Amino acid sequence: MNFEEIGLEKSLIDGVSAMGYEEATPVQEKVIPIILKGRDLIASAQTGTGKTAAFLLPLVHQLISQPHDVHQINALIIVPTRELAIQISQAMEGLAYFTSTSAIAVYGGGDGALFTQEKKALSLGADMVVCTPGRMLAHLAMGYVKFDGLKYLVLDEADRMLDMGFYDDILKIISYLPKKRQNLLFSATMPTRIRMLAKKILHDPVEINIAISKPPEKIKQYAYVIYEEQKILLIKNILKEKPFECILIFCSKIIQVRKLSSELRYSGFSVGEIHSGLEQNVREKVLLDFKNKKVKILVATDILSRGIDIEDIDLVINYDVPHDGEDYVHRIGRTARAANEGEAITMIIPKEQYQFRAIEDLLGYNIKKLDVPSFLGPVPAYNPVKRNTTKRNFRNKKRKS
Ligand code: AMP
Repeated sequence: MNFEEIGLEKSLIDGVSAMGYEEATPVQEKVIPIILKGRDLIASAQTGTGKTAAFLLPLVHQLISQPHDVHQINALIIVPTRELAIQISQAMEGLAYFTSTSAIAVYGGGDGALFTQEKKALSLGADMVVCTPGRMLAHLAMGYVKFDGLKYLVLDEADRMLDMGFYDDILKIISYLPKKRQNLLFSATMPTRIRMLAKKILHDPVEINIAISKPPEKIKQYAYVIYEEQKILLIKNILKEKPFECILIFCSKIIQVRKLSSELRYSGFSVGEIHSGLEQNVREKVLLDFKNKKVKILVATDILSRGIDIEDIDLVINYDVPHDGEDYVHRIGRTARAANEGEAITMIIPKEQYQFRAIEDLLGYNIKKLDVPSFLGPVPAYNPVKRNTTKRNFRNKKRKS
């Protein structure tokens, strides 16, 4: 589902597309409509699922589509760490770029100037405040925080906050808030103490569970950190060197499927291709040939990442990094079905490194990076930092409008 279908304000959709989001993630698809209805929510969703935008977008939508008092704090987001507070306020900067709303992060550490700046926002009003519990309590103790008009409360990574001993601090902060407000609670896990906290602060919440499944342990996962131009040669090398019998290669784009399969065919491999540009009957025939081992390698778009059940695929190659953790798990889950073992190899080019790190974060472990054969020449280092494509996109957008 895309963000227009969800019904967000145009200025937010501009922000979303400048951030490079095309489709809503499963968390966003489920959570945004519930928040827009004004319901309280308890959601189990891990980092990496797109949960930040899942609550920021509908909150900003409500702020800009309903009258709100700019001299009040309208939304409060309580998070366990300063890093998360900064990350959320940066996400807000991007998503709400074309709106008139903004967020301020209020967290521990820093100097007196920072405290004064926070004090100003907390006493004069702010659309959204993202805070760590201790720092917020320090401000509350001074008596100037304007919570009278607060409408929305978000607890993010609630299980982590309880692990860090913030239970009482959270309840104390909440005691300063108006009783009538919308409450949203996000947590990667749902132990009993989270349910108890939820019972205390949520009113008739909708419950959403979007924990992603992890890949089976019998799949050996590897990755190569390379440049785009090296991919096809590397894939040919893998196919020649390793004794795999049944190989599925995923590409994000049809054009890549076409290019890769024709290159492999030209080099003498037995290859079929599947993508949405082919008629259904052609696709079915190719799939049947693959199942019956008439072709050894199948190159496909994500059209094939869910639902197909071929038991003895022993290698899945991701020609590019899947869109998110969910897609990754679905793609590599095509191998090692039944009792078999399988291998999954992902190609990571420099601009996809951060996306791959997000997948590793979601899985909770790092995937082994294999050495690229030396005949392919120098390769990039693995240094997954967020690239600042967003600013460039915004500049282009502003120029156009
Ligand atoms: P989160 O789970 O909120 O930490 O988000 C994980 C990553 O996914 C962040 O880098 C987001 O910018 C990115 N992201 C969130 N929503 C989308 C989307 N709909 N499409 C593409 N990327 C997204």
